[in-house]
Amino acid sequence: MKSHATESHSPRGAAGRLSSIAIVGGGPAGALCGERLARQGLRVTIFDEHLAWEKPCGGGLTHKAIEAYPFLLDSPHPKKIVRTAELISGGGHRARFEMSHPIVIYSRKVLNGLLLDRAVAAGCSAVRTRVTRVDTGGGTVRLTAGGDEHCADFVVLAAGARNQLLPDTTALGKMDLEVTLGYFVPAEEQIIKVKFLKQFEGYLWSFPRADHLSVGICAKMGQYSSQRLHRHLGDFVREEKIPMEGARFYSHVLPSPQEQTLRGRRIAGDNWAMAGDAAGCVDPITGEGLYYALRSGDILAQALTDGQPQAYPERLRAAFSADLEFAAKFARKLFCGNFLGGAITTRMVQLLNYSPAFCELIRDVFSGSQNYRTLKRRLWNQFGITALELARSFLNPFSAVSAPRASEPREPLP
Ligand SMILES: Cc1cc2nc3c(=O)[nH]c(=O)nc-3n(C[C@H](O)[C@H](O)[C@H](O)COP(=O)(O)OP(=O)(O)OC[C@H]3O[C@@H](n4cnc5c(N)ncnc54)[C@H](O)[C@@H]3O)c2cc1C
Repeated sequence: MKSHATESHSPRGAAGRLSSIAIVGGGPAGALCGERLARQGLRVTIFDEHLAWEKPCGGGLTHKAIEAYPFLLDSPHPKKIVRTAELISGGGHRARFEMSHPIVIYSRKVLNGLLLDRAVAAGCSAVRTRVTRVDTGGGTVRLTAGGDEHCADFVVLAAGARNQLLPDTTALGKMDLEVTLGYFVPAEEQIIKVKFLKQFEGYLWSFPRADHLSVGICAKMGQYSSQRLHRHLGDFVREEKIPMEGARFYSHVLPSPQEQTLRGRRIAGDNWAMAGDAAGCVDPITGEGLYYALRSGDILAQALTDGQPQAYPERLRAAFSADLEFAAKFARKLFCGNFLGGAITTRMVQLLNYSPAFCELIRDVFSGSQNYRTLKRRLWNQFGITALELARSFLNPFSAVSAPRASEPREPLP
């Protein structure tokens, strides 16, 4: 059977404007892109094999996402608003701090449902089916899904990190991906925990949601065995005394793009473009992808309604890709490098306890209100203040922000 993304194929309108758009993937990138396009009067069909589902994810939205899309905070849907975070070093040091803005945490089934409902209310059709083929040759786009063929003027590929629908581009390679595994745990918690490991490119986390926790580990693909990841996760769960009864296992891949991938990989052509994870729009340090999925879907929709699809990659770069490229340059150094004779991540946790100025900076980084490009300058600018605070806290240990607890292993600062 053959159908148009809605009905029979209509050619592009006046001035080369598009009239029908097919979107593969109804996650944050596809759903928001669809909503924006439908509001501009375009005929949009979103194809998703699950529609709203519990995609493996922490579900944390930082301040920049809330600032850009306030409905994510204002919606009546169940969510957790978390203000406190705790960082744990590979040696067991801990630093707890209040973030400068709260992180809003959703279950992904709720978040995807909310975004898809908005897209449908704006006029999109949402079809539950798996797309198996996309042909962009010859002007009109042809999609195969569930034995049917659909046509559209333009296709948005927002099918996530595992996307294999690749018109004229390459898949994300092993070096651009992380493996993640974890559990949804039926337990209550009020704080976000992040633990670093020695010489390990990745981290462990516990994110509290409305009625459960998302606990997991992420690591660069191909660098560590699955047994090792399970072992670290098991240790974390025990150390943090997370009750595992009724826990549900998950595993997924997460883009962790290299600088050259962000800079050089093709993400758009004449009648197609990628958004979200499929385009590698993820912070290579933190793994934050929800904001970038929403923004890329939004920026793509704007480029299409402006009649300038070719402007999309450049607009994306101006909005955030250049910042992510910057982050990609020092991701490995951050996780595996040394500073003042100890692991950078350990020094970071220790400095949080000793320097109010450094703590201020990390509070902003964590809540998503400090970008990477200006981070280096800010670090240098306050280096003197941090050094002074450090010296003061050693001369007078009672002046520290909050001195490390006696029970914690102490790795002396040089
Ligand atoms: C374990 C883990 C924890 C994470 N934690 C966080 C976090 O706390 N905060 C944060 O900001 N980011 C987090 N991320 C990243 C975040 O989940 C992603 O960046 C985000 O989901 C990307 O959105 P997307 O719309 O691009 O893709 P997705 O959310 O993956 O959506 C893609 C959609 O496409 C559909 N699909 C795929 N193939 C097809 C096909 N062939 N046909 C039809 N439909 C198809 C899927 O069903 C899916 O609904 C995490 C990721 C992982 C793996």
